[in-house]
Amino acid sequence: MNFFRINPNLCNSHDNQMININSFTFNPFMENTYVLYDETKECVIIDPGCYEGHEQNELKLFIENLELQVVKLLNTHCHIDHVLGNYFVKKQYNVPLYIHKEDEQTLNAVTAYASSYGFAEYQSTKADGYLEEGDSIIFGNSKLDVVFVPGHAPGHVALYNLAQNFCIGGDVLFNGSIGRTDLPGGDFDTLINSIHSKFFIWNDDLVVHCGHGSSTTIGDEKRSNPFCAIAQ
Ligand SMILES: [Zn+2]
Ligand SMILES: [Zn+2]
Repeated sequence: MNFFRINPNLCNSHDNQMININSFTFNPFMENTYVLYDETKECVIIDPGCYEGHEQNELKLFIENLELQVVKLLNTHCHIDHVLGNYFVKKQYNVPLYIHKEDEQTLNAVTAYASSYGFAEYQSTKADGYLEEGDSIIFGNSKLDVVFVPGHAPGHVALYNLAQNFCIGGDVLFNGSIGRTDLPGGDFDTLINSIHSKFFIWNDDLVVHCGHGSSTTIGDEKRSNPFCAIAQ
């Protein structure tokens, strides 16, 4: 059964000292949920969008099959599609939830509108700690760095690892597009500034794992993204 995708760019059979990245696409918004783990089998779950029982089971089975130990739950930002599975993950694995403080309002707001989006069973969660620019998230022998990239949501962060040249980018920059800025707390100029000042300083080969759709690279988006391409 093939129930997860492995990014071939990140597979290196000669080196087992590394972060493995697995993604799942959950809920009607087709949101990408990420599980990152290393050789110690410790893992973090980022933006669990699992809502239906079969989605929660898919995530649970993956973790069971690889005998992973979940140590942290992280949200890049707190729109409904990225937090639907927060309650399940916290309850199942008894792990703390980390978000940026500026997105606490975004998280709290979900309860009020979940039903109108068809998620009547949504159960709210509270953050247990906050992510700030420059923080490091440790799991196993691995580290993710936090960068603050507001614009799509007021407290949006991306999590990156320069040694392995990737970031978990949430809804900031997509393959050929950018995050929408018409939701509460969104701002177009702020988003473009985040992309140019935070993402576009990384090297062209850095892989961005997006909150929706396929992964991309900084170079591809610099060259061809219609919203923020840099003329060559
Ligand atoms: Zn979003
Ligand atoms: Zn999203």
